[in-house]
Amino acid sequence: MPHLIRTLPKVELHLHLETSLRLRRLLGQQHPDDPTIADPHLIADPGAFTGYDRLRRLRYANRAGRIPDEAYTTENITRITADLLAAAAADNVRYVEIRVGGRRGFTTLGVRPMLEAMAEAAAAAEPGVHSAFLVTVVRERGPEEAEAIVTEAAACRDLRVVGIDLAGDEANYPPAMFMRAVDKARAAGLGITVHAGEFTGPTSIWIAIHQLGAQRIGHGIRAVEDPDLLAYLREHQVTLEICPTSNLRLGLVPSLADHPLRTLLKAGVPVTVNSDDPMLLKTDLTKELTAVQAALGLSLETVTGLMRHAANAAFLPEAARQSLEQEVTQTPAAS
Ligand SMILES: [Zn+2]
Repeated sequence: MPHLIRTLPKVELHLHLETSLRLRRLLGQQHPDDPTIADPHLIADPGAFTGYDRLRRLRYANRAGRIPDEAYTTENITRITADLLAAAAADNVRYVEIRVGGRRGFTTLGVRPMLEAMAEAAAAAEPGVHSAFLVTVVRERGPEEAEAIVTEAAACRDLRVVGIDLAGDEANYPPAMFMRAVDKARAAGLGITVHAGEFTGPTSIWIAIHQLGAQRIGHGIRAVEDPDLLAYLREHQVTLEICPTSNLRLGLVPSLADHPLRTLLKAGVPVTVNSDDPMLLKTDLTKELTAVQAALGLSLETVTGLMRHAANAAFLPEAARQSLEQEVTQTPAAS
């Protein structure tokens, strides 16, 4: 099955660029003898923390954050985006939405130059893999910065920006703070996806849908706790971006065999599978699909169904979504 899954045409909707982590690897490749570019090591044990704090520890409490500002060049951003896309193409991913929200990249280079550098790599990667970008709005930076980022993102639709992603500390920065920013994004024609139902319960998903008009939910696994919500997600085709290894590493599920993915599928919720932070989590889309397929005993038809959900929920025009759906649901060659 792993080989077959790798050869399947795939779509990925929830993938962070992981700018600092990728830049660190790039610097390591460019300067292999420089002792200051050490392998990142954790300076705090993420296991000692819970909830969003654990994610923060995993992401930032290591040397990956110590990247000199000089590394943030447009050339390097193009290089790391090209690396990500080369890995996606090798994994037979046909379309990927890459989300980017790194403050240092945006402040050092500017939002538009950063996205221009990414778009250059995206154009060069075609036709092997097609891609578009989501700009991540980080809750902890507050509503004013959110509005400012959205204004800039909306002006970059010519650079493949197709949506915004609201991410960060769900518990302490409620959605109401970001209504103006999200409304602005919607008015500009951008798609809306919101990280919710990951560290907080199903109420956070209801709020993301009704207060922010989220079309997709990042993670959303805690929807399983609320049957009415499951029915709503099915009826209104609100898609969940499930990231199994991420959930496991953050202690949100005890094992993949206990992952709510199967319950969500049974309830008819449009679910997708994604790699979230593939470098940090040492994963890719094939590994994610193979792991859940084995742990939950999913059929090949179900795996293809996950790809169809992803194609349908891409922030693309209707015609492009349909042709993507066709591409990922073609019967794989017999093996
Ligand atoms: Zn995420």
